[in-house]
Amino acid sequence: MNFNELSIIQPILKAIEEEGYTTPTPIQEQAIPKVLNGHDLLGCAQTGTGKTAAFSIPILQLIGAHGEQTGKRKIKSLILTPTRELAIQIGESLRAYGRHMKLRSTVIFGGVNQNPQVNQLQQGVDILVATPGRLLDLMMQGYISLKDLEIFVLDEADRMLDMGFIHDVNKVIRALPNDRQNLFFSATMAPEIMKLAASILRDPIKVEVTPISTTAEIIGQSLYFVDKNNKPNLLFDVLNEQTAQSVLVFTRTKHGADRVATHFVITKRKPI
Ligand code: AMP
Repeated sequence: MNFNELSIIQPILKAIEEEGYTTPTPIQEQAIPKVLNGHDLLGCAQTGTGKTAAFSIPILQLIGAHGEQTGKRKIKSLILTPTRELAIQIGESLRAYGRHMKLRSTVIFGGVNQNPQVNQLQQGVDILVATPGRLLDLMMQGYISLKDLEIFVLDEADRMLDMGFIHDVNKVIRALPNDRQNLFFSATMAPEIMKLAASILRDPIKVEVTPISTTAEIIGQSLYFVDKNNKPNLLFDVLNEQTAQSVLVFTRTKHGADRVATHFVITKRKPI
């Protein structure tokens, strides 16, 4: 699969090429055509899968299709993300993929003076990337109107919940127009995440990618079935048979690590 086969417009294809991307990641391959077709999306994907481009590229294309703007730009897409770092990264991606387009995007987050962010907003933006607290704050002060919004992205929904942002997220959602496209991303799909997704999405397409985890080919693997009580003895037997200079033993808990280490001392066996 090639980016050319995803119905992406030329200015974005050019920017993607300049970024050095040659092939779409699985989430991009699956999500981009669906989002371009106007579908809601339920994306089960972690950071590192290329999910930012999976939503940024079609958003730029869909919003860009409005053509030349007259008058002050209105916010047509909102990307809500839990942390300042993620917000900044998404802002950078939008700038990179949209560098041959005439759209304006900006990023707002808390913990810094609001004035530069307000100045950006007052110049008019098409795409807004925000963390929930600062967004609500500036909405309440009347600097942000979401009544022209067309595409809403909830990024890292599981982290939003973990960080206690659920009420803020719900408040933002209540301020959005009913008629909109929704893209929802979460690394996990626990029941409360699914409940939140169901309250936001309409007839979504589900896209799920798991991080690629491969084992190194030069590492041999063996599996031993053993009773819990016999595990230390088995470990020592296995280690005695090996000629390795140094060995790393993983345990599930730190107490487990202590028990293994203590056993080495008690049995007076020399750790390798
Ligand atoms: P994300 O999962 O969105 O945080 O992206 C992880 C990293 O992958 C970022 O540094 C992107 O620049 C990079 N990336 C995204 N899509 C591609 C692609 N198709 N080819 C190569 N790198 C990519």
